[in-house]
Amino acid sequence: MLKKYSHIIVVGIDGAGAFIKDADTPHFDRIFSNGAVTYTALASNPTISAECWGSMLLGVGPEVHGLTNAIVSSQPYPTDSPFPSLFRRIREKMPDAELGSYCDWNPITAGIVEENIGVSHDTARDDELTPVICSYIREKKPVFLFVQMDSVDGAGHRNGYGTPAHLKRIGEVDGLVNDIYTAAGEAGILDETLFIVIADHGGTNPGTGSGSHGGWTDGEKLVTFAAAGKTVNRISVEEMNIRDLAAIVLYALGIDVPSFDEVGWTSQIPAGIFFDPDIPAYRDISHLTGAAPRISQIPHTSELI
Ligand SMILES: [Zn+2]
Repeated sequence: MLKKYSHIIVVGIDGAGAFIKDADTPHFDRIFSNGAVTYTALASNPTISAECWGSMLLGVGPEVHGLTNAIVSSQPYPTDSPFPSLFRRIREKMPDAELGSYCDWNPITAGIVEENIGVSHDTARDDELTPVICSYIREKKPVFLFVQMDSVDGAGHRNGYGTPAHLKRIGEVDGLVNDIYTAAGEAGILDETLFIVIADHGGTNPGTGSGSHGGWTDGEKLVTFAAAGKTVNRISVEEMNIRDLAAIVLYALGIDVPSFDEVGWTSQIPAGIFFDPDIPAYRDISHLTGAAPRISQIPHTSELI
């Protein structure tokens, strides 16, 4: 498969759901003004962080990967899993590639990405981590960089999702997204970069001054996906599941996307993002319902503040 991009930067905004469309995000709007955008990408079920980030980084749903917040918080991702992470799939094809995972909620790096495969990483709160990420981009020009920001989810937990305080924090994180985008420009790699923003899940606003997630309401299950790059079409993506991130990343790097398998790899390239007649038709996977619905008992970084 032909390599389409030399660099991919994914900025994951935990707990942003589809609420980016309601927030004041001038940088997001500008960056993706000619890109592929949707606010109705489907999260994994249950709408909990480990289940959702696991789906994106592994290309299989929670009914297959079985990860939970408790598991990723307590044990490394097995190096012999039949479902390797994106990082391992890229490493096997590109032994010398610079790969980075910079997450506020470090269990993503520690519990979904295999150890000892040469992934640069660091963890800190979003505001402190972003300058570190920007320096990393300028110095190392990573082939694949995955970033997770946690503070938006914290604002949702503390105030309710979609509330003014939650939307305000999305607006502030929009500035951090712009810092990362700008750093790619300063590194001289922007023309060859596929830049993606994605959320793992949204959350609820019961009007009690706090919110939660884990269920399957629209506020929890519908999320933002946006992509910008030289071969990305300016479209509103009609149908997509967050686990499709894995297929998009492999395709963009010219790595063969595994065959669709209902009991395994179910990550696909959504229709219309790229013009390429060789991309297989998008299959309906709505009958793959995910793991048993449940509310996580293991909070993550922002929930602990
Ligand atoms: Zn989350």
